[in-house]
Amino acid sequence: MSEEIDRLWALQDLDEQALAVREVLARFPEQRRELQHRIVEARQRLEQARARGVESQKQRRELEREAGALVDQERRFQQQLPAIKKNEEYTALLHEIEGARRKRSEIETRVLERMEEEEREQHERPALEQALKSAEAEAAARAKLIDAEETSEQGKLGVLEARRDAHVRELAPVTRARYERVHASRDGRAVVGILKGACGGCYRTLPPAVLQEARRRDRMMSCEGCGRIIVWPPVET
Ligand SMILES: [Zn+2]
Repeated sequence: MSEEIDRLWALQDLDEQALAVREVLARFPEQRRELQHRIVEARQRLEQARARGVESQKQRRELEREAGALVDQERRFQQQLPAIKKNEEYTALLHEIEGARRKRSEIETRVLERMEEEEREQHERPALEQALKSAEAEAAARAKLIDAEETSEQGKLGVLEARRDAHVRELAPVTRARYERVHASRDGRAVVGILKGACGGCYRTLPPAVLQEARRRDRMMSCEGCGRIIVWPPVET
């Protein structure tokens, strides 16, 4: 029977290794999403900057049209001036001219502000484009590494599974059935070692009689707490 206990112990080790590999494999999708997320963010920043530029240009052209209309108005008023005879009408028109001029000046200031902003954004644009390119290049390079790592881990898992299957086939039918059942219900951890007098799976303290029996390593035993197969670890040699 001790041979079977040894086999179970070997299975414990293989299953732990397989679990570790599966944990590594489970991280890859998140890593891929993270890379894609960085690209999406960089692209959004660039597109937002472009959209701001387009919007600013649109606003500036509108302001330029307004300023142009005020120039025309001012000119028309100027042309009317010589024909005016009454003093107060003359003063009123001068006032209108002054008003149109002030308004035009304000608008021209806003046009300049827009132009400065557009220029600033044009300066920033190459950096944003570069950031997107870098994110894409980095994602492509990292994706290759992730793919390679994933293939390697899948290979490891395949080897572990094959070794596991070989051991499982050698188990006595009863032991094998028990192992497979617990393996399926306990997330791949069917066999655990006894550590400091407790089950290595659920940490429940085991009765002295159970410990004594387990130490003999001549019978398959289960933890009453979690149902896992408990094995007294082999003595280190
Ligand atoms: Zn347990």
